Amino acid sequence: MFDVIVAGCGPTGLMLASELRLHGVHVLVLDKETEPTKVVRALGMHVRSIEIMDQRGLLDRFLALGKQHPLGGFFAGIAKPSPELDTAHGYVLGMPQPVIDRLLAERAAELGAEIRRGCELVGLSQDDDGVTADLADGTRLRSRYLVGCDGGRSTVRKLLGVAFPGEPSKVDTLLGEMKVGAAEELMAAMEEIRKTQKRFGAMPLADGVYRVGVPAAGVSSAPPSFEEFQEQLRVIAGTDFGVHSPRWLSRFGDGTRLAERYQVGRVLLAGDAAHIHPPVGGQGLNLGVQDSVNLGWKLAATVAGWAPEGLLDTYQAERHPVAADVLDNTRAQMELLSTEPGPQAVRRLLTELMDFHEVNRHLIECTAAAGCCWIKPGGCRSRAGPTGSITSWMSARNWTCLVCCCGRTVTSHGSVTVSGICSTTCPRGSVPPSTERTVCGSELEPHTVR
Ligand SMILES: Cc1cc2nc3c(=O)[nH]c(=O)nc-3n(C[C@H](O)[C@H](O)[C@H](O)COP(=O)(O)OP(=O)(O)OC[C@H]3O[C@@H](n4cnc5c(N)ncnc54)[C@H](O)[C@@H]3O)c2cc1C
Repeated sequence: MFDVIVAGCGPTGLMLASELRLHGVHVLVLDKETEPTKVVRALGMHVRSIEIMDQRGLLDRFLALGKQHPLGGFFAGIAKPSPELDTAHGYVLGMPQPVIDRLLAERAAELGAEIRRGCELVGLSQDDDGVTADLADGTRLRSRYLVGCDGGRSTVRKLLGVAFPGEPSKVDTLLGEMKVGAAEELMAAMEEIRKTQKRFGAMPLADGVYRVGVPAAGVSSAPPSFEEFQEQLRVIAGTDFGVHSPRWLSRFGDGTRLAERYQVGRVLLAGDAAHIHPPVGGQGLNLGVQDSVNLGWKLAATVAGWAPEGLLDTYQAERHPVAADVLDNTRAQMELLSTEPGPQAVRRLLTELMDFHEVNRHLIECTAAAGCCWIKPGGCRSRAGPTGSITSWMSARNWTCLVCCCGRTVTSHGSVTVSGICSTTCPRGSVPPSTERTVCGSELEPHTVR
């Protein structure tokens, strides 16, 4: 019997596996695919996720393979200077998702997570003692808990019967990596077309390969063909620019949905399995990784038997509203990308408003998840205010919501009143347990400090 089975070997499932292993949880990660995907969805990580990688001692690995970009311009692609954020990592770390996934998989494996590919979860049932997972090949596995990190079309969510309310996709975009015969022409056309059609875009990669995106003719769940891709280029730009030799093609929509519940008994949901939204602002992977950091130690505490009553419930209580906010900001950004005159006028107005530093900063904090903190009386989210004693050793005020996920009251000077436990982590061991105990209050259990 495993402690936890994680369904899905994407960034959410891999991050969760690592978080659980930090606490010695016996974890199995399953993925239906035999190999990691080559499709490059996310292109990087935002402030909060970079802070997490730093906190976990992983940042050097990511920095070695990524490229730092300015934060400005991430809200609906409105070009503005980067605002000053209260973080040690005020940049976007550009990196293709397959590289992020690989680094997270290596970390999970190093920590002792068992990863099995080619294992599709097709059924599950639960009882008082645990969960039974049925795989497509007839294998049955048992665990005490199971977490569905199996993406937007989550089988786990469907098997649980959890409602996924929201809006269906209204527009699809075709995306792919390919060689381009008329590359200069493509880049020149892009500038012109993007003045009104922001869903058209091209980006040079290495070896003459370009990442090209173009609006699809309609909405479909079928994989795109290369002919469809070429045809859409002709429709939008009047030419297909001689594209050829596609490495991969994909289609994504702007469906926006949020799971009604993140937990049913011993089964939980995280990442895209719990929320989907258009990729504007580059937030989905980040949101999933942050779900996992919130859930990991709470589930570990529950498995180990020292979680106080209701601790696991705080996962949904804290993360569901964060996802709702992200969904809302992507809805807003999609409106701002519309070619209709009304939204374009709103875009012009917002572009002016973003010259006010606080407006620019607020919008970038939304996409970078740098403005969220859970520790406030009454449970509402806000920034933690001026850097306090908890946050100072984390070098950013917002560390509080990741470090002290207990969601309890913080006083103005940053001490925490915890009713039982506090979070588990200290950055790379730089804060000895005794210091953390002093900083965070009196109730820390020694075994919560790694
Ligand atoms: C075009 C595009 C660009 C994007 N850009 C960004 C960006 O710049 N920044 C950002 O943060 N996000 C971005 N995203 C979103 C990001 O890619 C997703 O939010 C992220 O991959 C979600 O991670 P996940 O682990 O929750 O799910 P996934 O990455 O979808 O992983 C789910 C895994 O579960 C497996 N699985 C599915 N069903 C089963 C089953 N029944 N049994 C076992 N395994 C199963 C799948 O094979 C898959 O490996 C983008 C998305 C798109 C489409």
